[in-house]
Amino acid sequence: MKVGILGGTFDPVHNGHLLLAECAREQLSLDEVLFVPAGNPWRKSERAITPAEHRLAMLRLAIEGNDAFGISDIELRREGPSYTADTLEALAGERLDDAFWFIVGADALADIRHWREPERIARHARIGAAPRSGTEMPHDGVIPSDRIDGFDCPGLDISSTDIRARVSSGRSIRYMLPDAVCRYIEANRLYR
Ligand code: ATP
Ligand code: MG
Repeated sequence: MKVGILGGTFDPVHNGHLLLAECAREQLSLDEVLFVPAGNPWRKSERAITPAEHRLAMLRLAIEGNDAFGISDIELRREGPSYTADTLEALAGERLDDAFWFIVGADALADIRHWREPERIARHARIGAAPRSGTEMPHDGVIPSDRIDGFDCPGLDISSTDIRARVSSGRSIRYMLPDAVCRYIEANRLYR
């Protein structure tokens, strides 16, 4: 099987994530896209992350009804910081017959050289990257360019940070993320 891995904090998951996953699935001919919520995102340790059970519950609601989308809680089960290289190595080790694409949006692609062991990431997965239209794929050599597969994705200027800020100031987040996730946020009084 061809499996896409979309890592993120998903605090909360939104339509930008879902569209990125769908574009990758279609254009890279993936059988499955696994959303992998980060347990303890080492690069975001400056702010309090919403407990994993809520982030996981929102992901479940967001992908409901899409047989090609799934969730892996591998980073939630692991102690300590979440490094993508470890996650991919563990998944690749569990699923020897599958081929992996690590899916990144434009901002994550530009940032990849700052991640822990990008070479080890690229050893276990090809990189599926959606550069913003008009921007170049960064070829800084950290990830060999023959390990990167580009795909197109219409830009949706939505971020979890902006959604959290909107909720905390009482503004609408409707249509930025699935209705069921909006309702979950309201019912659980998240991001107030
Ligand atoms: P935060 O605002 O907390 O950083 P985020 O919305 O940026 O959250 P992340 O968890 O940081 O979400 O991102 C996970 C992955 O999703 C990254 O690869 C990122 O590039 C991608 N991504 C996030 N938002 C979008 C978007 N609007 N369109 C396309 N890709 C996105
Ligand atoms: Mg981000």
